[in-house]
Amino acid sequence: MKKVDIAIIGGGAAGLFAAAYAAEAFKAEPDSLRERQIVVLEKMPRPGRKINITGKGRGNITNTKMWDEFSLHVHPNPNFLKSAFYGMNTSETMSFFGRIGLPLSVERGNRVFPKSMRAMDVTDALVRTAKSSSQVDIVCGCQVETIEKLKEQSDNAACKFLIKTDRGDFEAEKVLIATGGLSYPSTGSTGDGYRFAESLGHTVTNLLPSLTALTPVGYKEGGMLSKFGKSLEGLQLKNVSASLVVNGAAVREEFGDLDFTDGGIEGALGFRLSRSGVMALSNGQKVSVSVDLKPSLSVEKIADRIKRESSGGNNTIRFLLNRLLPKQLIAPFLTLNRDLLNIDNGKAARALPERLKSLNFDIEGYVGYERCVVTNGGVSLKEVSQKTMESKLVSGLFFAGEVLDLDCDTGGYNLQTAFSTAALAMHNMLSR
Ligand SMILES: Cc1cc2nc3c(=O)[nH]c(=O)nc-3n(C[C@H](O)[C@H](O)[C@H](O)COP(=O)(O)OP(=O)(O)OC[C@H]3O[C@@H](n4cnc5c(N)ncnc54)[C@H](O)[C@@H]3O)c2cc1C
Repeated sequence: MKKVDIAIIGGGAAGLFAAAYAAEAFKAEPDSLRERQIVVLEKMPRPGRKINITGKGRGNITNTKMWDEFSLHVHPNPNFLKSAFYGMNTSETMSFFGRIGLPLSVERGNRVFPKSMRAMDVTDALVRTAKSSSQVDIVCGCQVETIEKLKEQSDNAACKFLIKTDRGDFEAEKVLIATGGLSYPSTGSTGDGYRFAESLGHTVTNLLPSLTALTPVGYKEGGMLSKFGKSLEGLQLKNVSASLVVNGAAVREEFGDLDFTDGGIEGALGFRLSRSGVMALSNGQKVSVSVDLKPSLSVEKIADRIKRESSGGNNTIRFLLNRLLPKQLIAPFLTLNRDLLNIDNGKAARALPERLKSLNFDIEGYVGYERCVVTNGGVSLKEVSQKTMESKLVSGLFFAGEVLDLDCDTGGYNLQTAFSTAALAMHNMLSR
């Protein structure tokens, strides 16, 4: 049995950041922290597999927005993150990466990437920094199976933990659970941390995929793309607006780029609608996405344009759509507005502006954990101290990253959340 001071379970974004943070602290305070030994236990053959695929392989590691704006992208309880964010905010995160040898660049939308545009370099920088300290060990190919309390909490005595793995047992004074969520299980994130948390008395909230594709009715047949799905797949709509409609009421409106993929409605805009969409579908509510294909034009302006286009004498619906829409959208548009083909041309032309402002897709499902970006839900925030990331139920047990009931929009917010919670947890683990 190997004995350590701190065991970090999971060598992903949060676990590696915590380890690198500790290594930096050991260099800064060699005397007071000399006795500390940390082990990172990672089940995959290499750490940071999910980091390596972030931002389409480019690694959108944070976002330069200040808290007031940043917090709007954190769900379901941004306040929980506030202390962690103030301890390790976006500019401190950028300085940290600068110090450990990862030059960064800020792109459109305040998004921060490594200058090399290689997400792998993020993993490499964190691993290199962690390993630069002889007090930090990263053990890969080591699957944690159970975590048990060795001693009941009594008075001020902290409990020790017995960590059973497929490569032998570890005993630790403190444990940081940084096992991530359920998304992209091929990266190693298979939700084990939820099981560990529950076995130690914690509540795990309802879990759902988030930042995922919403699948329109008729898009797939028998698991494969239907003719309708094939006609839309690959289409990218730039600068459109779309509303998520639940039980007939618009609950969220977003503006941006919307992509149709083999899963359905995706892209930055689709992802932003997906959190509420998946929740509503899982509650059995009726969900649709209404796309405004011409958000900068009023119905009247579109009607004027249609009048001009038909002044040559041709006002058939196909002719008008050819003038107004990308080619690939015409067939699916007509599938969804078949009635326009069965009424006289003048009537159809008059109805067209409204239809262009609200192309309606009824939604029947969504792409699951195998390809969603984050997990909505996790270890209940009510049972974790937001000032320390320590469990309120088990002394010495800490949490960081996606295993917590925290998930964010796309744009670097999820990785920053993993880094901020990891830094706060490690700071508190080292200070005791
Ligand atoms: C395709 C994709 C693209 C993304 N792009 C971005 C982006 O550009 N910007 C952004 O901010 N966010 C992005 N995210 C989200 C972000 O990657 C995650 O929110 C973040 O990695 C969570 O960090 P984590 O450390 O909590 O979990 P993870 O990074 O998932 O790490 C958890 C680790 O724990 C290990 N583990 C699990 N169980 C065990 C066990 N029993 N024993 C030992 N080890 C275990 C896993 O193998 C894994 O390495 C993306 C996600 C995906 C899927």
